[in-house]
Amino acid sequence: MAKILLHKENLFHNLNLILKQAGKIQKVAIVLKDNAYGHGIIEISSLLKEFGIKKAVVKNFKEALKIKDYFDYILVLSNKNFNNFHHNFHFALNCFELIKDLPNNINVHIKVDTGMHRNGILPEQLEDTFFKLVEKNINITGVFTHHKNADNILSKDFEQQNLLFSKIKEEVKKICKRFSIKLPAFHSCNSSALFRHKSIEDDFVRVGIATYGYLETNSKTLPNLKPIMSLWANKVSSRILKKGESVGYGGTYTSKKDISISTYDIGYGDGFLRLNENQHYTTPKGFKVLGRVSMDFLTLNSNEEEVCIFDNVKNLAKIHNTISYEIITTLSKDIRREITK
Ligand SMILES: *Cc1c(COP(=O)(O)O)cnc(C)c1O
Repeated sequence: MAKILLHKENLFHNLNLILKQAGKIQKVAIVLKDNAYGHGIIEISSLLKEFGIKKAVVKNFKEALKIKDYFDYILVLSNKNFNNFHHNFHFALNCFELIKDLPNNINVHIKVDTGMHRNGILPEQLEDTFFKLVEKNINITGVFTHHKNADNILSKDFEQQNLLFSKIKEEVKKICKRFSIKLPAFHSCNSSALFRHKSIEDDFVRVGIATYGYLETNSKTLPNLKPIMSLWANKVSSRILKKGESVGYGGTYTSKKDISISTYDIGYGDGFLRLNENQHYTTPKGFKVLGRVSMDFLTLNSNEEEVCIFDNVKNLAKIHNTISYEIITTLSKDIRREITK
């Protein structure tokens, strides 16, 4: 059976780099949305707990429930059914119109749109938002924003959004004084933003991809992150492909001589995106994917019982003309996850 190995030492190595950059562990919230970027939300949560991480960020209420016993503080990014289930849950408010749907006493982080124009209230709605939330007895526990271009050092968006967010923080401080309410936590950094700052003034950072060992940026000075996931497949069958014979759908790979090949139990149905005859992929040990990848199988010029399909998805991302995020989040939840050292 195919499996995903999670390398604990690599994860802890990445967490130490993140921790050093953020300043202290209380300032680190790890993003676990979409099954911890395909790694396995329970497995990663247990390791993060062991390391001492207290804060997590997830996509929805369902994910939050899964990990509630691992963390002291969980931010839910995109739920629309706000559920006042747990005092440790905090819900992102993604637009002004949603305030009417919030139950009393819920914890809310106000998302402010500082330029990405994906989610968030407008900066000029800040005071009204506070007013309405306070009126409804809602706990405003955070104010945050998200960068649209932190991964591109050539763009000025990062500085502009930072400037606007600084102004928002000042305004929030004044508003809180006026309403006599506690100052909320401020946060704005994803992975690439974290590694662009010299030091972190916000109360915490929301780090996703760097945790898992990747960073998609054009910066020349990248931290030495290590991928924590490797994908392994098992042999299903072997045969000799005779000279002139071809393998798989369309018979797109034809052998020039007799070779020994085997089929392995991973395919695009498992989330290993389909490769075709125009895309050449070689495993870390140098085995070649022959012909097309099918739903549940792929064929290699290998005889080994178990083969490492990847231990770094950079190459695959390049072949598929996409980013590491997409390659890893697509992996099926049904593949067995195993923690190793
Ligand atoms: C996914 C996400 C993050 C994490 O981004 P990375 O680039 O993976 O570090 C942070 N904040 C928000 C709002 C997100 O949606």
